[in-house]
Amino acid sequence: MPLTDRVLMGPGPCNPYPEAVQALARPMLGHLDPEFVALLDETCERLRTVLRTDNPMTLPISGTGSAGMEAAFVNLVGPGDPVVIGVNGVFGARMCDVAARCGAEVVAVEAPWGQPIDPQRLLDAHPAPRVIAVVHAETSTGVRSDIAPLGAGKGDALLLVDCVTSVGGIEVDVDGWGVDIAYAGTQKCLGVAPGLAPLTVSERARERLVERSPSWYLDLRMIGRYTGPATGARTYHHTAPVSMVMSLHAGLGALLDEGLDAAVARHADCGRRLQQGLVDLGFELFAAEGHRLPQLTTVWVPGGVDDGATRAALLDRYGIEVGGGLGEFAGRVWRVGCMGHTARHRNVTLLLGALAELMDRR
Ligand code: PLP
Repeated sequence: MPLTDRVLMGPGPCNPYPEAVQALARPMLGHLDPEFVALLDETCERLRTVLRTDNPMTLPISGTGSAGMEAAFVNLVGPGDPVVIGVNGVFGARMCDVAARCGAEVVAVEAPWGQPIDPQRLLDAHPAPRVIAVVHAETSTGVRSDIAPLGAGKGDALLLVDCVTSVGGIEVDVDGWGVDIAYAGTQKCLGVAPGLAPLTVSERARERLVERSPSWYLDLRMIGRYTGPATGARTYHHTAPVSMVMSLHAGLGALLDEGLDAAVARHADCGRRLQQGLVDLGFELFAAEGHRLPQLTTVWVPGGVDDGATRAALLDRYGIEVGGGLGEFAGRVWRVGCMGHTARHRNVTLLLGALAELMDRR
């Protein structure tokens, strides 16, 4: 089967929007060419729209989602700073690692995998944290944690949110929820190839950036070129990944042409059909009810279904990629993505039909 027929239903990347793929073939431009600079400005404006923010400092960091995570911490956290972090999966744990490397006093608030983070426990974890950090959509478990109560109760702390798997797939409201710094990745519900990390920083957080970040590359005080006149002089810092920015610009264009609310509704509808279909086939859902992500469904692998063999058959015979479980859930849980351009009824129907055939349910 040609690789162009692959249906990417793992935890990421998804199938990019066709517009985002086509943009990768556009003629190369110099990174200081006025055409490119205008396109970059428009890309930042589109990011403000999808993140629902007016933050002047909103830009695509050069690097994958983890670069966004690292940029957030190395610009806000210094040695000895108390940082409260929700941990209910791999990516909360990664935040702890990154914060600890900045010298933070990390206060981890843990919840079992499959459960959301209780906002009140985060708010009560330390009397005066500099930062409260949480993953909105945990890709290792398919769980959504609530952000709005953290913004309402954060006090003097800065609220840092990982939106890698959420933005473009479920509601994200940076300004409405009082989020101070949020980052994402291009390869999930934004429907673009991996390679950039959209980042937004509130004016409140900008005033409290560390004096001298230990990272040269990710120092937000130096990345003026991206943010332009609104936040400082546009000067050379590093060469922008021109083709990836063009692709993000086009992918965001496709998303906004559809309408953000319509895209969120499409993800919700596909997730609902997929989760019901999997239950009908005998799968049990893993994530806590009421906190399940439509764009990333986690299920227990039923007894009698061989994890590796079944996922290999899905790939070989039907061209469908499905993700395996992580950590102690490897071999026992599947992670089924339905994100970005992949979130279509036809893909849900194809996967459910393929599973029914493989499991001999028809
Ligand atoms: N945060 C979350 C919630 C993720 O799902 C991922 C990747 O899957 C990351 C951070 C890291 O992003 P990347 O793998 O693009 O560096």
